[in-house]
Amino acid sequence: MSDELKVKFWGVRGSYPTPGAGTIKYGGNTSSVEVRAGERTIILDAGTGIIPLGRELARSKRSGEILLLFSHLHHDHTQGFPFFVPAYMPNARLHIFGPGGTPETLSAVLERNQSTETFPLGLREMASTKNIQSVRESQVIVWDEAGVRLAESAGGLSDEAVVIRIHKSYAHPGGVYVYRVTWRGKSVVYATDTEGYVGTDRKLVQFAKNADVLIHDAQYLEEHYRGQLVGFPSTQGFGHSTVTMACEVAAASETGQLVLFHHDPAYTDEMVAGMEATAKSLFADSVAAYEGLEIDLTPDLSPKRRGEKMTMKLQTPSPLPLSHRERE
Ligand SMILES: [Zn+2]
Ligand SMILES: [Zn+2]
Repeated sequence: MSDELKVKFWGVRGSYPTPGAGTIKYGGNTSSVEVRAGERTIILDAGTGIIPLGRELARSKRSGEILLLFSHLHHDHTQGFPFFVPAYMPNARLHIFGPGGTPETLSAVLERNQSTETFPLGLREMASTKNIQSVRESQVIVWDEAGVRLAESAGGLSDEAVVIRIHKSYAHPGGVYVYRVTWRGKSVVYATDTEGYVGTDRKLVQFAKNADVLIHDAQYLEEHYRGQLVGFPSTQGFGHSTVTMACEVAAASETGQLVLFHHDPAYTDEMVAGMEATAKSLFADSVAAYEGLEIDLTPDLSPKRRGEKMTMKLQTPSPLPLSHRERE
C-alpha cells in the first residue's frame, strides 16, 4: 500500500471557468481538489477541474472507489460532474456526500442538474454505482479497511483510517461545508466559499487549528471587496474573502501552509500573482493555488523524523500537461 499523502489542485477558479491567455499560469477551471491518501482518492468539489482529474483516474486505473465531497451545491462546484469519466464506468463505486436539509437533498439536486431539459444523460443513466447522501455536520466520514461509512464520532479509529470532519459555516449565502481530512496525523482543511469576519471567523479558526494545509477562499483584492477598484462593484456579503481575511484565519489557526483558492474569474495571472505576494507578506507560508499544484504531506515514519514538522515540497508553476488544457 502506498504511504503517500498528496493534495493536488485541478480547478482553482471561482464562479465560472475562464480559459484564455490571461489565466494560463493559474488555470481557468472551477473548483476541484484531489486528496490522495495511500490508495484512497478523495475529491473536494466537482467544478470543471474534476473533468481532467476524472480522465487521469480512469487512465491510471484509480477509478475503482472514489469519495467525492461537495462543499455546497452552487454550480461552480457541481458543473464538472456530468463530465466525470469514472461516473460512467460500471466498475466504479462513488460515495458522494454533501450538505442538504434531508439525506435525499444532494441526489435530488444532482438529478435536477441532469434533467432531460438541461443535459442529454440522466444521473441514473451513468453506469457507476453511486451512494449519494446529504450528511449532517455532526457526522464523521470514515474510510478504513471496512470501506467508506458515516460515523457519529471519530473515537476508537486507527491511524490508518481517513477521517473527515465537517464544519458548517454560514459565511456564504445558503451555507457551506468546510472539511478537515486527516490521515496518519496529517490534516488538510478545505474552506472555500467563505467570507471573513471582523477579528476572524473564530469557529473556523478552531476547526482549522494546527492543520498542515489550509485551503482558503481568497477571491477578492481588498479594493474590489470595498468597491474601490474601477469597474468592480463592492462584493461585501457575497460570501468570499479577501487575501487579508484568509491570512488572518491561517495565522490564528497556526496552520502550516495557506493556499489561496477560488480566484476571481475576472482576475488575470498578474493580479493573482500580486495577491500571492501580499499573502506572503502577511503569512509567510502562502501560495496561490494553480492547476497542477501538488503538495506532498507524506508522513515520514522513520524513527528519527517522527514528531518533527514536515516540510512541504512545492512545485513551481510549469506549462500544464495537455490534459489540463483540454476543454469540454
Ligand atoms: Zn464557488
Ligand atoms: Zn458558492
